[in-house]
Amino acid sequence: MSRFDIVVVGAGPAGLSFACSLAGSGLSVALVEPQLRAALADPADDGREIALTHRSRRLMQDLGLWHRLADAEIATLRDALVLDGGDTDGLFFRHEDSGQSQLGWLVPNRAIRRAAFEAMTAAGEATLIDGVRVVGVHADADGAEVRLDSGERLRADLIVAADSRFSETRRAMGIPATMRDFGKTMLVCRVRHALEHAQTAWEWFDYGQTLALLPLRDTHASSVVLTLRHQEALRVQAMDADAFGADMTRRFRGRLGAMTFIGPCCAYPLVGVYPQRFVAERFATIGDAAVGMHPVTAHGFNFGLLGQDALARALREARVAGRPLWACSVLERYERDHRHATRPLYLATQLLAGLYTDDSAPAKRVRRAALRIAQRIGPFRRMVMEALTDDGRPGPPPLRKLVGRLRPL
Ligand SMILES: Cc1cc2nc3c(=O)[nH]c(=O)nc-3n(C[C@H](O)[C@H](O)[C@H](O)COP(=O)(O)OP(=O)(O)OC[C@H]3O[C@@H](n4cnc5c(N)ncnc54)[C@H](O)[C@@H]3O)c2cc1C
Repeated sequence: MSRFDIVVVGAGPAGLSFACSLAGSGLSVALVEPQLRAALADPADDGREIALTHRSRRLMQDLGLWHRLADAEIATLRDALVLDGGDTDGLFFRHEDSGQSQLGWLVPNRAIRRAAFEAMTAAGEATLIDGVRVVGVHADADGAEVRLDSGERLRADLIVAADSRFSETRRAMGIPATMRDFGKTMLVCRVRHALEHAQTAWEWFDYGQTLALLPLRDTHASSVVLTLRHQEALRVQAMDADAFGADMTRRFRGRLGAMTFIGPCCAYPLVGVYPQRFVAERFATIGDAAVGMHPVTAHGFNFGLLGQDALARALREARVAGRPLWACSVLERYERDHRHATRPLYLATQLLAGLYTDDSAPAKRVRRAALRIAQRIGPFRRMVMEALTDDGRPGPPPLRKLVGRLRPL
């Protein structure tokens, strides 16, 4: 039976980033992943464009992921606009107000996965066990054990689950999770449009549908994100390219001119997940297995990066101090820090997603009023922008520095 200090379940972007974070720590790490090595090296296009904050970019730089992205894979997210119903005027987040030249970046999920795999391989420390699935986990005071569908067993001091928001490993460890199924499906697809996108992302809470537009590097191309009832989403996904383009042009009311299909068109069920605990005996969750965000606030992977970093730092410090990795104090510190970092936005996102998909007359009034108030309240907009543009370095975040020169916050 093979033995490692840590067995990571899942080599998605969170699991791979975590393995990179532990490089040089002296800890032996195994990653178990059902996909084959070749598929991890050249991931399939899943249509997702991931909006990254300044802090995420810095973490990706530190992990040696960022420089593995080609310039053509990185798009600028300069400003953001939130619209409600048929309004053309909405809540505008301008980069100028943040003290930064842009609010963030957009990178295809496929490119992030590839870069994370390359960085993990280049570090040359973690052992990848590919083409197999974890089918059982057990942990007690004496140690932890992972059972694979190949029949093999791995021993470890600690198991880290990074096996998606529907984590079977978390479930097997008996950790309950609050799940909210929004009963909707999200379609993502790249399109070309006649007018320029001005590097501005849109979140448009229309009636009967939610639309988002994420600007790509080409000023006439974006990723559209369309949230619909499941049956309607399937109907739209099945359209041919011409019908799809015409349908998008109509749904976006021609605001960016005629739209044409680039593809691919991928569908995702909308389910938010937050477990009661991130840790258990000799066990921790990271990535979506820890916090399964609704994509509307574009924070799933941003939280994934933050969480894996927090856990890796706690483990490195434990090792230096000669404390066991599975000590309660080590795992509890991660639990506390990551809960503190993620819970408020998780709850706010659930609330926002619930309110802005409710088309009843009273909800419509609240939706409109809330957006107008948010537009008028400067500190609210500044707080949101600070969350996007603070890179986590010590010292005042850029926005506070800028605003501090003008007036106290
Ligand atoms: C439409 C959409 C848009 C998004 N936009 C953004 C955005 O703009 N910004 C942002 O920050 N985030 C965004 N996200 C979220 C982001 O994509 C996820 O947070 C991120 O991909 C999660 O990474 P992960 O490694 O935790 O999980 P996953 O990517 O789900 O990877 C899990 C891995 O575990 C493996 N696995 C599963 N079961 C087992 C098992 N039993 N044994 C071993 N391995 C197993 C899987 O094969 C997989 O490789 C978006 C998500 C969606 C759906």
